[in-house]
Amino acid sequence: MRRFLPILAGILVWVAAVPAPAQPVTTPAPNPARAAPEAPQAPAGDSLGVLVQASSAKPAEPVVIDARIGQHGDDTRFVVELSDPVKFHIFTLSNPNRLVIDMPEVLWRLKGPPVPTGTGAVKSYRYGLFRPGNSRFVIDLNQPVRLTEPLVLPPQDGYGYRLGLGLFPNTQTAFDKTAGWPAELRAREKAASEIASLPPEEEAPPPGALVPGRVAKRKIIVIDPGHGGIDSGTIGVTGMEEKNVVLSVGLRLAKVLRSDGYTVYMTRDTDVFIPLFSRAPFARKRHADLFISLHADSNPRRGVHGASIYTLSERGSDKEAAALARKENQSDIIAGVDLSGQESSVAKSILIDLAQRDTMNRSAQFAHTVLHDLSGATDILTPEPHRSANFVVLRAPDVPAVLIELGYLSNPEDCRQMATSRWRNGAAQAIAEAVRQFEPLVAAAPRGRIP
Ligand code: ZN
Repeated sequence: MRRFLPILAGILVWVAAVPAPAQPVTTPAPNPARAAPEAPQAPAGDSLGVLVQASSAKPAEPVVIDARIGQHGDDTRFVVELSDPVKFHIFTLSNPNRLVIDMPEVLWRLKGPPVPTGTGAVKSYRYGLFRPGNSRFVIDLNQPVRLTEPLVLPPQDGYGYRLGLGLFPNTQTAFDKTAGWPAELRAREKAASEIASLPPEEEAPPPGALVPGRVAKRKIIVIDPGHGGIDSGTIGVTGMEEKNVVLSVGLRLAKVLRSDGYTVYMTRDTDVFIPLFSRAPFARKRHADLFISLHADSNPRRGVHGASIYTLSERGSDKEAAALARKENQSDIIAGVDLSGQESSVAKSILIDLAQRDTMNRSAQFAHTVLHDLSGATDILTPEPHRSANFVVLRAPDVPAVLIELGYLSNPEDCRQMATSRWRNGAAQAIAEAVRQFEPLVAAAPRGRIP
């Protein structure tokens, strides 16, 4: 279904215009976090943990010290407190209704972030890195809102710079009229995604060409650690975040495969958000032979445990698989991506042509091998560990692709072992072994047909 392009609107606030002369920016804050930012904490048992958060470890960045939600009748107030003045972009997104506070890359030192009351406009929110150089809050709204002009206060009474936003009830029609990314952000995003999708210099084969001889030893593997940055994925029973586990296993897998002579590209090798719809094109542009997306699952039933693997299909193989795909497909909504121009890749159903059927067969074959090899390294989900569903991230028509759910972070035992280097190395080795056994078929796929 196509929607009208929303009218682009955004409110640009340049906070730097209001420093208080009596209280310079360098005044020490009452909050010790501002004066001495702590080093980011490495995920438990992960020697690569520092790398995971390296992009947010630069001390010169402004610090978000606090966030507060106030409720006065129907009106909600959202306040963000920072150590330094920064430039904000504030805008709303519909379907679902969200409010995004976009800013340069900052450090997050919120102590006990506020919990929404449940009665106001704020349903839930998250914050984090959207892409290098760019952090944001994404606020899920309970109802359409009208925003007040943002109020910016200079440091005073022990507080830092504060951005205050009023959220008042509004009609959906009025909300929709102004929803959408500001034009400036659209331009920035387009430039960033074009840079990210450039094929590496050494990749010579023309796009989509049938290359005789480039058959037996095509060895380009794309590893896709799920989520990242502002999208933490599932949170484990111990507080461990899916985005960190899968990045850690992904980095280990890349290391093993590279030492085997494979060319490996990672959709992300740091803690950064990558839009869902750019992940499959990333693999296609690099002429990948195999695309491996890494995730970890959760289930309300704590006893459910073990690794499982998913391949693409129009309809899910079962209800649970379809529900999982819906959950994993939420990533862009979580991160505050405006999907209004993305219907073609995100919302439409997939068309399976002959090339894709061949790709799907090879994906299924690889999935089978992965399960076999993984069974030596970890528990496997019973009774049906290989299922299929309509995952956005697997929609590269000519690249065999699987999504591995490494285990259940909702299961205490899975969560405990997934925190250990030993388990992560074992899982990486097992997947690498499956890659070694995966021989792309002779150029049977009519690659030239892919647009
Ligand atoms: Zn996931």
